[in-house]
Amino acid sequence: MDGTPIVDILMFHSISDAAGPTAIPVEIFKAQMRAIAESGLPVITMDALVDARRMGKPLPPRSIVITFDDGFQDFADTAFPVLQSHDFPVLVFLTTEYIGRQEGWDGANKPERDIMDWETVRDLASQGVAFGSHSVTHSDLTMLSDDTLGIEINVSKAEIEDQLQQPVYHFAPPYGLTNDHVTAAASGVYRTLATTRLGQVGPADHLHGLPRLEMFYFTNLTRWREHLAGTGTAYLRRRKMLRWVRERLPAI
Ligand SMILES: [Zn+2]
Repeated sequence: MDGTPIVDILMFHSISDAAGPTAIPVEIFKAQMRAIAESGLPVITMDALVDARRMGKPLPPRSIVITFDDGFQDFADTAFPVLQSHDFPVLVFLTTEYIGRQEGWDGANKPERDIMDWETVRDLASQGVAFGSHSVTHSDLTMLSDDTLGIEINVSKAEIEDQLQQPVYHFAPPYGLTNDHVTAAASGVYRTLATTRLGQVGPADHLHGLPRLEMFYFTNLTRWREHLAGTGTAYLRRRKMLRWVRERLPAI
């Protein structure tokens, strides 16, 4: 077999000067996108990854999928024009209860950032932006009863489909928190489940447990270009190790 395709699924949240790891300043985002264009690596849709797995359609040896969690207003105002200038497809995961409001979930930034309203979402969909579900209430899904979990998974999908009049195939659990229960429930309803597990998608990764690259780790553009050129794997390994340690440290 000739080479197993590798897909980098990039994870962004807000493109702004907000504090914290969920925001990347626009100039850095522009430079990250320019570096992708210069690398020549193709940006594909999540559907293309699904088609490759389910129908054996060919993928390039290396490609990129761009995703945004939470549906911040700055996606429409700031990120989308940059993506559009490169003709890059993008997938945005929406939390339906927060549409047209402000982030207000556990761990939200202060001051809270605006979330896109349905009119904006519909307008972006008409321009080719794909939308997935990020649950109804942005809760830790691993803590919920079966009934509530079912609502988070199914009602968010139904509402986005109703608003956009197109099917919703992709899911990203809030905070990347998932367990066998959540995975099983989402697998029956969605074609993919994107996590926050750090890594590149290889042949061993299941469609309902896809790793992503947190782009906050790649705001250093030299490092990002090295990664795109395929010389950055030592950095990714180090980063994974640090994260592994941090996740296992007792909370203080
Ligand atoms: Zn989120």
